Amino acid sequence: MPSGAVHNVINTLSLLAVGSAAGYATQRGLIRLEAGAVLSFCGAFMAGTYLLSPDLDLAEQHVSSKRNWGWLGFLWVPYGWVFSHRGLSHTWLVGPLTRLVYLALLLCGPVLLLRDPILHWQLDGVTRGPLYDLLKSFQGFWLRPQVARDTLIALALGYYLSQWLHLIADGVAPDMNVRFNRRRSR
Ligand SMILES: [Zn+2]
Repeated sequence: MPSGAVHNVINTLSLLAVGSAAGYATQRGLIRLEAGAVLSFCGAFMAGTYLLSPDLDLAEQHVSSKRNWGWLGFLWVPYGWVFSHRGLSHTWLVGPLTRLVYLALLLCGPVLLLRDPILHWQLDGVTRGPLYDLLKSFQGFWLRPQVARDTLIALALGYYLSQWLHLIADGVAPDMNVRFNRRRSR
């Protein structure tokens, strides 16, 4: 199986290829892309490649996607315990979802802790300008989280494409066969 570094190279080159094709199609007037959607797509693709790779099912060992979390890498160790390598984590639809759900669970703690301080944040002391606008919109999003449909689609496409490229490189066919009993090999 390809190592983490090989997966990263395959994914990054693929993103460059998709980007070049999209750039060419845009120039020819074949498609029209919103900057926000492009940014969301690329961001989700990079996060999926470097931070949320299927190989986090080996997080109890040293894998590149765990290392990229820095000192927070230990947070993924329980994920590695729960999911056997190349099992449910390496399926096409549910696998990527398991990591999003796990991430959401990880974020529950900080969100609950920060909820009140952020809602009662006084911005009076902050001079009006880019920083003020940023904090204000963050507060607004916190109060009423809403993401535009196009942004959501771009995020999902970017994330899933990064995951599927990993599975293709691993030789996992797009089926729902969950291989729980496979011997643990990278
Ligand atoms: Zn893998």
